[in-house]
Amino acid sequence: MVGAGFAGCASAHALVSRGWHVTLLEAGQHVGSGASGNRRCVVKPHQTRDDSPLNHFWSDAFLATRATLARLAGSHRLESDFSGVLQLLEHDGPWANENTGARVTRAYASQLAGIPVAGDAIYYPLAGWVNGKDYCQALISATPDSHLATQSDRHARTDSGAKSGAELGAEPVFGQALATTHSAKVHCVTNTAVSAIRARHPGWQVDTHTGQTYTADALIITTGAALLETLSATSPEAMANATVLPLKQMHGTTVTCQSLHQLPQRQQNPTTCPITDTQASPAKVITGKGYLISDPTGCTVGASYAAVNTPIAPSGNSPAELIGHADAVVEIMAKIDRLSPGYASKLVSTSTWAGTRLTTPDRLPVVGAVPDFSQYAADFDALRHGPLHQVWPEPSYHRGLYVLGGLGSRGAVSAALAADLLADLITGSTTTEPLSEKQQQKQQHYLALMHPARFLIRQLRKQR
Ligand SMILES: Cc1cc2nc3c(=O)[nH]c(=O)nc-3n(C[C@H](O)[C@H](O)[C@H](O)COP(=O)(O)OP(=O)(O)OC[C@H]3O[C@@H](n4cnc5c(N)ncnc54)[C@H](O)[C@@H]3O)c2cc1C
Repeated sequence: MVGAGFAGCASAHALVSRGWHVTLLEAGQHVGSGASGNRRCVVKPHQTRDDSPLNHFWSDAFLATRATLARLAGSHRLESDFSGVLQLLEHDGPWANENTGARVTRAYASQLAGIPVAGDAIYYPLAGWVNGKDYCQALISATPDSHLATQSDRHARTDSGAKSGAELGAEPVFGQALATTHSAKVHCVTNTAVSAIRARHPGWQVDTHTGQTYTADALIITTGAALLETLSATSPEAMANATVLPLKQMHGTTVTCQSLHQLPQRQQNPTTCPITDTQASPAKVITGKGYLISDPTGCTVGASYAAVNTPIAPSGNSPAELIGHADAVVEIMAKIDRLSPGYASKLVSTSTWAGTRLTTPDRLPVVGAVPDFSQYAADFDALRHGPLHQVWPEPSYHRGLYVLGGLGSRGAVSAALAADLLADLITGSTTTEPLSEKQQQKQQHYLALMHPARFLIRQLRKQR
């Protein structure tokens, strides 16, 4: 597996829980070196106005993350607070699928928050925030309670030759799980950037910038903002075509602040920033276009959102960076004032953090076996001509090559569910009892929503 953010760590955790051994290669000095290093990640469902299937996906994703965090919290350092999130509504009218949240009036939302908020809200009592680096570290350190695996014990290893890659179908498999007794684990290698990827028929080989070679039956690409660059190594012509995977890098900043009422009296400067009242810190996370998270040490506000052409190296919480991110700070403070009018003027910025997200047009992750895009386009070209009932060929995939990426602005929410679905797909096993028919249908529906070839298929249909 290449890349140890939420995508890589959650996938590693899911595979280890199914009895697999995982080698996780990370370019940075530690897990969560990229966008997942955000120390205050909001974890809440995402709801749209209509009752779209996406509401169910985001509710399930949220619940899967909460369950994972609850399991990890018992035995790992996991800075987090799940005292509830208020999401301010940007439109009037009913909101669908309120099973994880309830609509509240502006007055009640203000009472819950302990500060005045700008409008009605959906209140998610089970939602909150988690420290991204802690979450990544806990995922790869956790010892699974039970291991379930398929017939063969498959290893990623640093030697010659892959063992059982031929068994690894790229198509979804939902086979029976067998209990195993071996102790599966994640072997995480940091400071190790993957520089080349080669198919070995069967299996995959990756070379690192330090001159090492790793081989494995299956390779999962989870390199966040660098995803397209990494995938280009396997399919350069297809990746050069922007319609195949129309992913965009969006740079973002969060700001750590002290609120004036938290500062000792002598540090407050009434000349430059007059204090008219000593408003409390919000008791709930408040979100809308931006977010405001308070904790005993201060608060974190976010996030800016701007397209970039090349990933900007994540930067960490340094006061000096405030100057470099002045535009982002202004953008964020304007967002905070739209959540709670006047609140931004009570904040003193102390440091910033920045990272790059990889977004998709439909805001859903890209999860599954990596298609052989050129073959795929040729096989499904007839879609342009509209024969709806044609018998289509079996889709072509790069055998044993998988991707989990495009997590956009909600990676802390979607990674756990996406990783579970991917691990089921790869191993043909689950960590639970065999799935019911209804669960299998839902699983296949979610995998279809996140399928890596969906943009290519949509493009072919559009050209009809
Ligand atoms: C400012 C900001 C605020 C955000 N706030 C939230 C929030 O509140 N809630 C939320 O859910 N989400 C939030 N997100 C989004 C979330 O952070 C991302 O969706 C998530 O971190 C993406 O995870 P990832 O694993 O795909 O990528 P990353 O975390 O970037 O991980 C990719 C990893 O791959 C490594 N890598 C890259 N290339 C190589 C290579 N060649 N070899 C080896 N390793 C490599 C990188 O070093 C990196 O560690 C925010 C993002 C930003 C930028």
